[in-house]
Amino acid sequence: MQIIIHRGTREIGGTCVEVVSGKTRILLDFGMPLGDGRGGEFDERALEGKPTKELIAKGILYPIQGLYRDDAPQIDAILISHSHKDHYGFLKFAHSDVPVYASAGAQKLIDVLNVFIRKEDRLQLPKSTVTVQDRKAFDIGGLSITPYLVDHSAFDAMSFLIVEESSDQSLFYSGDFRAAGWKSKLFDRFVAKPPKDLDCLLMEGTMMEREGGKYPTEQDVYARTTEILKDMTGKVAFACCSGQNIDRIVSFYKAARKAGAVLVIDPYMACVLNAIKSPKTHIPQMDWENVRVFIANYYGHGDVYVSKIADSAYKNLLPDLAHAKIKPVDFAGLDQKALVLMRTSMIPALEKIPGIRGSKMIYSQWKGYLDKGSADALKFKAFLNKNEMDLEHVHTSGHATVDKLKIFAEALNPACLVPIHTEHAGRYQEMFSRVKMLKDGETFDLASAREQK
Ligand SMILES: [Zn+2]
Ligand SMILES: [Zn+2]
Repeated sequence: MQIIIHRGTREIGGTCVEVVSGKTRILLDFGMPLGDGRGGEFDERALEGKPTKELIAKGILYPIQGLYRDDAPQIDAILISHSHKDHYGFLKFAHSDVPVYASAGAQKLIDVLNVFIRKEDRLQLPKSTVTVQDRKAFDIGGLSITPYLVDHSAFDAMSFLIVEESSDQSLFYSGDFRAAGWKSKLFDRFVAKPPKDLDCLLMEGTMMEREGGKYPTEQDVYARTTEILKDMTGKVAFACCSGQNIDRIVSFYKAARKAGAVLVIDPYMACVLNAIKSPKTHIPQMDWENVRVFIANYYGHGDVYVSKIADSAYKNLLPDLAHAKIKPVDFAGLDQKALVLMRTSMIPALEKIPGIRGSKMIYSQWKGYLDKGSADALKFKAFLNKNEMDLEHVHTSGHATVDKLKIFAEALNPACLVPIHTEHAGRYQEMFSRVKMLKDGETFDLASAREQK
């Protein structure tokens, strides 16, 4: 079995790994890069209308035969580890006859995003997409594949164990993971009984040079937010977070409930939460008792998110949205305190909430986004300054800290460990044993890994 990391040996995001076993060829993730390689953000719009040949020549896409729309399909499967764009964002360039495999949660989150984004950016997963489940093995050609559900800031994220049946060679692809969320038990369960005799581990290292921070777990985010809500003298606090980070929304829901406050989500979040609603998982919904949905008149044309929902397959949610509605003026009459989850795009409507001057703002994403000085970050900071808000960073990472990575690598004890999804591959050698550094595009034969051990 051979592997080629087309992208990801030296960067976070844009992950794409090809696995070759005889005539069988599969991809692990087909992500869009996060950065442009010059310190800026990757510009998705610059790809529009460009032929794949040109994008391959520019080094944006990879020379993978039988993958792209304008090619005869020869790739047997694309396995998507989770619903973050840096792992699935290039799927739209793949031939629609190439089978895609992803968890039910990942499929739903990729799909619901289409309601809210530009037509050009939408991604329709093929109807034939295969749903993968935790520890339910399946075969593709001569490969046996076992997904493992992992704790990550993306809901229903997977790692993959891949075994070549003819040689018994094995590869484990960690995807993105952590041991700090509401599903941290998954990590403990995995390292207590990991797959045996592993030849190669592809392990993410987002946090190799990043501090764990003040709040190591979601439990800590929940506890601090509860304190903030209890201690504040004003009525409204805000939290800036991703509408797709389900663990974080759960933390905020729990904090609001504990503090006797209402949690205010927006129609986009309400729709996302509804998309992954299931009797098995206890995920907050807009019809829960202390949850409201913020609906406002944005630019004199009503609520921008509600109108998108009205034009989509989710339009049956409109009565529930109306029922849970809280308008900016309604905050004045609230008996309870409120925690409003927000994004920069909601600022024009948030400013209509009476008495927000001096209120608390929880920034609940990686602090690096704020420091980068993007247009979004500047708008956010201007909103804070204008309303004299009190900013506090309360966040925990979606990625494993170095101590957890060590536990993980030691448990799997692979014949070789290959750095991926990291900006600090060079540091792996100091921290882990039997590290094999690869370059993007280099072919590595797993037979040589076994010889090393
Ligand atoms: Zn990632
Ligand atoms: Zn991720």
